[in-house]
Amino acid sequence: MPSNVSASSSETFDFLLLGAGIIGMALARELSLAGVRVGLLERGQCGQGASRAAAGMLAVSGFPHDSPLAPLARAAGELYPEFLRQLEAETGMQCDYRRIGTLAAQAAVERHGGNPAELAAMPPGAEPELRAQGAWYSLPGDHSVNPRALCDMLLRSLRSRGVAIFENTAAQSVAARPRGGFTVATSRGAMAADQVVFTSGAWTAEISGGRLPVTPCRGQMLALEGRPELLRHVLLGPDVYLVPQSSGRILAGSTLEYAGFDQNPDAATLMRLRRAAIALAPALEPLPTVETWAGLRPDTSDHLPLLGEAGAPGLWSATGHYRDGILLAPITARLMAALVRGRKPEIELSPFAPARLQSASGRAKTS
Ligand SMILES: Cc1cc2nc3c(=O)[nH]c(=O)nc-3n(C[C@H](O)[C@H](O)[C@H](O)COP(=O)(O)OP(=O)(O)OC[C@H]3O[C@@H](n4cnc5c(N)ncnc54)[C@H](O)[C@@H]3O)c2cc1C
Repeated sequence: MPSNVSASSSETFDFLLLGAGIIGMALARELSLAGVRVGLLERGQCGQGASRAAAGMLAVSGFPHDSPLAPLARAAGELYPEFLRQLEAETGMQCDYRRIGTLAAQAAVERHGGNPAELAAMPPGAEPELRAQGAWYSLPGDHSVNPRALCDMLLRSLRSRGVAIFENTAAQSVAARPRGGFTVATSRGAMAADQVVFTSGAWTAEISGGRLPVTPCRGQMLALEGRPELLRHVLLGPDVYLVPQSSGRILAGSTLEYAGFDQNPDAATLMRLRRAAIALAPALEPLPTVETWAGLRPDTSDHLPLLGEAGAPGLWSATGHYRDGILLAPITARLMAALVRGRKPEIELSPFAPARLQSASGRAKTS
């Protein structure tokens, strides 16, 4: 049953969005703000995919200057405060938006790339619980949110706006209709829309009939139960990152594994993450591990998202955000809402056109 409103399968939506992770929910909200009739399909429960598994870092400075993602990340960082202010006003909820910044160990900067010369040195005494292991750098503009709370806010916002949400409804295939628009075959019957957007994260290749070559990249995580302000900053170490939440929880992650759709964490990897966390911040040693999990990032062969037309007019892709979908959700929603409504997005999206990963034969390129 639709979880929000009842809509018959004969109803034609302006847009059907296939998948209700943070990207699908943020885009559905943006489209509903623009006054169009949106249906959001989710084969399970909204916000339970990669978006629930994320650490919640808003790593605005995590991209080399020449990356096509750098302008998007900058714009995302600028948009976040207003995006959250509006959501808070709409829902009365919060998502632990912490504007304390990130500290990166020199070894992490060297391993992951970046430009230490441009990073400010860590302010003295900023994080007394840290083991002094080489220089630390401050990334004052890289903040964090609790992504689970953010998904809850988005869902409440969609419900209050009357967006038609169909949970436990799996999209199976999409077919163009002879007189325009699309029919989406679902586990609960056919649905119709003028336009369709794939927002199905790591599972998009299958329902797009291979048009959108998205690959699942597993990340394992654990949560330690600490006390508030034991750590203040997000910490980037060479082998682990730590994301403190205001409740006292500290998230430690993660891995980059290409293991198909298996979402189970394994004990050996979790132990390695825990050891790396303690090596980085010895004060964490007594803290119990209170939760472990894994999620599937939607990755592509060039690690860039697929934002644009998906092989036919009116058929769109908004997925492939890999390691940065929490950061990029609000800006993706804004830019894609413009694009699918025939407007010019404020930032050029051509570097992310799905067609770049299509071979001359029209089949998706894989690597
Ligand atoms: C361990 C880990 C840590 C991360 N940390 C960060 C971080 O700190 N900062 C950051 O910015 N990003 C982070 N990410 C990345 C971020 O989580 C993802 O980029 C983002 O959540 C992708 O959002 P999405 O909506 O595309 O995918 P998802 O959240 O996976 O949503 C896709 C949805 O589509 C649904 N779906 C799939 N197939 C169908 C179908 N056939 N019919 C209907 N529905 C369907 C799924 O059930 C799911 O709910 C992390 C990811 C992981 C795994």
